[in-house]
Amino acid sequence: MVGDNTSGRWPDDIDEWNRRAYLAATAGSTAGVVWLSGCIDDTGNGGGSDGGADESGAPESEEEELPEGVSEEEFERGPVPEEYRTALSLGEEERDPDDLTSKADVGFSEYDEADEHASHEPGMCCANCADYIPDKNGDTFGACAEVEGYIDGADWCAIYEELPEPSVPDGLSEDELATAPVPDEYQNATSQAGEQRDPDALQTQADVNLMESVEAIAEEVTPPGQSCGNCAEFIPDMNGDTWGACAKVEGYIAVEDWCTLWEHSSEEG
Ligand code: SF4
Ligand code: SF4
Repeated sequence: MVGDNTSGRWPDDIDEWNRRAYLAATAGSTAGVVWLSGCIDDTGNGGGSDGGADESGAPESEEEELPEGVSEEEFERGPVPEEYRTALSLGEEERDPDDLTSKADVGFSEYDEADEHASHEPGMCCANCADYIPDKNGDTFGACAEVEGYIDGADWCAIYEELPEPSVPDGLSEDELATAPVPDEYQNATSQAGEQRDPDALQTQADVNLMESVEAIAEEVTPPGQSCGNCAEFIPDMNGDTWGACAKVEGYIAVEDWCTLWEHSSEEG
């Protein structure tokens, strides 16, 4: 784990941050297509972007296309699609649609600008936040148990909450977790994107460079927005010990981990 849990802290620079975020969020609107400046998708490569420049000459990596049929107001304030309204977050917090905070009130930003905020630490993004609800409808955006509107895994806000590290299960040592057989219920389970696990065709954690998502992003091994929690291959906790498993990788896998096989959970299995 990297960094402190900042949930509930309201940094001194929040007003200045809100002003900057508002200016960024209202900067890009063109006929027929509505863009929000400064957000990038879960791949970290810019939603729908080909890496070129837009009509204004600004790099497309600094812009984000809204989901089809979603207005800028809906994107910022909701409502989010029905499947997210009372969904559980990565940290298993149930979203209450009547008890949410606006993006403006939490210094909401894309990752690349978050490091200008006093409470942001390298590697922290929505994809490894306990409050994040990964994509459930294939549009690559998710939601949040605490904040209104559509949320991308590569975003961040000032009430970011670190995911708790699972305890080592009884009968195992920490060193054994990477290679230990997972409990029976995971052996041939189906991942969150529909991929069936084959216990005889798995890669080792060492081979796929498994590490914590926060660490991988902080060290620029991978772009922001990626964790096992929003990976197509992840098999979420099935026995209440908060560990999960993977359809491609052996051993115990935590929701806040990441590896080189990461694939967006919106991908079909
Ligand atoms: S998921 Fe993102 S928007 Fe929600 S609390 Fe965490 S960092 Fe903030
Ligand atoms: S990021 Fe790697 S270890 Fe994690 S669920 Fe995806 S494929 Fe498995």
